[in-house]
Amino acid sequence: MDNKPKKQRYYTFMIVPHDARGNTISIKVPALWVYSAIGITLFSIVIVGSSVVYTSLVSRRLVHYYETIAKNREQQKMISSFSQETDKVHQAITELVSKDNELRKLLGLGGWKSKIRLSDKQEDKSERVSYNLKLADLKLAERKASLEELKGWVNTVRQRFATTPSRWPLFGQVMSSFGYRVYPWRGFHAGLDLSGSYGSPIRVTADGVVSYVGWRSGYGKAVIVDHGNGLSTLYGHCSSFAVRSGQQVKKGQLIAYVGSTGYSTGPHLHYEVRKWDHPVNPVAYLNLNILSASRVWRE
Ligand SMILES: [Zn+2]
Repeated sequence: MDNKPKKQRYYTFMIVPHDARGNTISIKVPALWVYSAIGITLFSIVIVGSSVVYTSLVSRRLVHYYETIAKNREQQKMISSFSQETDKVHQAITELVSKDNELRKLLGLGGWKSKIRLSDKQEDKSERVSYNLKLADLKLAERKASLEELKGWVNTVRQRFATTPSRWPLFGQVMSSFGYRVYPWRGFHAGLDLSGSYGSPIRVTADGVVSYVGWRSGYGKAVIVDHGNGLSTLYGHCSSFAVRSGQQVKKGQLIAYVGSTGYSTGPHLHYEVRKWDHPVNPVAYLNLNILSASRVWRE
């Protein structure tokens, strides 16, 4: 009796009808089956529950992932259009640089030597954008400096032009030109004789300082104006003066009146342009503008 195999335990499930018409159904099930069924059920609940939780987590993450991708795509699109814009800016600046250099060349200034040294390693579009922006910034700073230089140069040129004889001292006919002549006196004629009626106004041909007012042998009543840069002008045979020695004069200012003092056969102006005290042909200085003036500066 002792080593009799352990008796199998059973459970009986009964389905009992509520009235007398039906039969009672009873199922006898080994206990092991019942435990197994309970175990499997619990296990299934755990599996299903955890998979539900997992799926919801994953799907939430997936949604986030797709949102990120969409956002990324949007950003890429923005960077791309931004990159195109900066390329345009870059191109405009390059044009500006070449125009600036043309202008510098025209004005006789050397081309601008760019000091920009940027490593142009661009891994992607956003790096390219920031590179282009940095480059644009530097290039604009250089243009600003170049324009400042141009402005300074233009001021210098204007100043130089103001002090360069560039107009007629008197509107009249050229009676006698610069150089050797035989009439009215044989010899070298150091200036230009311009016809004018007695008392006509004589105007200084450039800014300067009156360095002489008075009588000069041969020239009669004469005015000499110093313009700097070695240039001076002389106005001879005047009848009277409108300036004093040491006076600052502006181009076009009335300085004297036409007369016939000194070696003169009738009222006219003897006009001389001197460079480092040597008379030069005044014809080159009669009709200059700010651009053509550079011609006489180079001589
Ligand atoms: Zn003369």
